[in-house]
Amino acid sequence: MRKPELLAPAGDLTRMKYAFAYGADAVYAGQPAFSLRARENGFKNLDDLAEGIAYAHRLGKKFYLTSNVIPRNVKVEAFQKALLSAVELKPDALIVADPGFVGWLRETCPDVEIHLSVQANTTNYLAAKFWQNLGVARIILSRELRLSEILEIKERCPDLELEVFVHGAVCMSMSGRCMLSNWVTRRDANQGACDNSCRMPYRLYANPEPQCENYQEHEGSFSLQRTDRPELDPIALDEDTWGTYFMSSRDLCAMDVIPDLMMAGLDSFKIEGRTKSVYYLSQVVHAYRMAIDACAAQAAAGKPLEIPEECRHAISFVDGRGFMPGFLRGPLPQNYESTHEDAPGGCVAAQVLSYDASLKACRVNVKNSFSLDDRLELLTPSGQIPCELASMKNFKGEDADRLHPGTEGWVFLSEDVKGLPENATFCFFVRQNFKK
Ligand code: SF4
Repeated sequence: MRKPELLAPAGDLTRMKYAFAYGADAVYAGQPAFSLRARENGFKNLDDLAEGIAYAHRLGKKFYLTSNVIPRNVKVEAFQKALLSAVELKPDALIVADPGFVGWLRETCPDVEIHLSVQANTTNYLAAKFWQNLGVARIILSRELRLSEILEIKERCPDLELEVFVHGAVCMSMSGRCMLSNWVTRRDANQGACDNSCRMPYRLYANPEPQCENYQEHEGSFSLQRTDRPELDPIALDEDTWGTYFMSSRDLCAMDVIPDLMMAGLDSFKIEGRTKSVYYLSQVVHAYRMAIDACAAQAAAGKPLEIPEECRHAISFVDGRGFMPGFLRGPLPQNYESTHEDAPGGCVAAQVLSYDASLKACRVNVKNSFSLDDRLELLTPSGQIPCELASMKNFKGEDADRLHPGTEGWVFLSEDVKGLPENATFCFFVRQNFKK
C-alpha cells in the first residue's frame, strides 16, 4: 500500500517547522490577502514564503501555496500579480478555488501544478473529471462527502489525486462559501476574514438592546422551532458558562476512517487549522503520522488495518468542540449537535524552550498551570513519553511547587528520560487530566 501524504497547516514559519518535525510530508500556507486566512497569518510577504519553501525543500518535503480567495473584479489584477511573483518561488503546487484563475494559470503558467481548493466544493466524479480535463492535478474534496461517495470518485477517477480533510474545525456552511460572518460581523469569509461566527457562543437576551453587565441567566431550557414545520426537531439553546453554541459543529476527527481511506488509495490527508497553536499542530500531526505509519506497516505484513490506541490517546490531549467523523460515517444532523467539550485526556502544560543536559533541566514557557504532583508526559517528535519531575523553579529562579501560565520557568527531570531528543527541540510537557 502506498502511504498517503500527511498535509499540515502552516500559519507561520514556526508552525511549519513544528509540523515537519512531527512528521508532516507537506504543508500549506498562503499570503494573507489571497489565501482565506487574512488574520493571524505569518506569511506576510514573498520573503516569508521563499524562506518557507526553501526550508521545506531542504527537508525533501512539499510546500503548497494556498491561493483560494474568491476574488471580485477589483481584486483580479492584484491577485494575478501576486500569483506571478509567488510562482517564481517554485511552490510545489498552487491551491486555487476560482475557475477563472484555474483557466488563467493554465494559460499563463502551464508548468505550475494546480490543486483545486475545497472552496470549489467538488462533490461528485463528473465535477472531478471536469477539473481534471482543465489541467487540475489534485482535487481537495468537499468536507460534506460520505466515505462511500469519496470511494466512488476515486474509483471513477483513478489517475486524479484526491485530498481529504481528516481533522479540524468544520463549517456550518458548505466549506466556507457562507455569508454568516458578513452578516454578524461584516467580515467577509470569502475574502479570508471569517469571524467563525457559527462556532461562537451566543446568549439569549430578553432585552432587544442587551448590556452585558445586566445579563441575567435565563431560567429553564430554550429551543428554536420552525413555526411552519412543527414536526421538525427543535434546536436546543442550552447554555453553559460561556453561552450557547447552537450553530457550532463538533470538530472533524477521521482517525477511525483512516484505514478505509488508505485502502481506497486516497492521496493526501489534510489537517485543518492554520491559526491553531504549535502544540495543537504538533500533537495532531503526531497522531496522524502514527496512524498512517501503523496502517502501512500492517498492510505490508498482510494484517488487517487497525488504529493503535496511542493515536487516539494523542488526540485526546488537544482541545476541540468534541469530535465526530464528519459526514464520512453518519447522517448529517449528528454533526451539528451543540457541544463544547474539554480535551478528556489532558492539555499542554508547557513548551520547552531549551534544554540543559548537564542539569537535566528544561527552560519552559508555561501554557497551563501545573505542579510537581501532576502526571506529566513529554511530547517529542518521536513519541509521547512519561516523565518524572524532581523540582521546578519559577521565572524569578525560586523553587516552586506550581508554575503558572504566561510565565517562564525551569523544570528539572528526575532521571534521564529515554527518547528525549538532543536539546529537547520541538518538545512539550503535557499534563494528564488526573493526578498521580
Ligand atoms: S461563519 Fe462559520 S460557516 Fe461561515 S465561513 Fe465562517 S466558519 Fe464557515
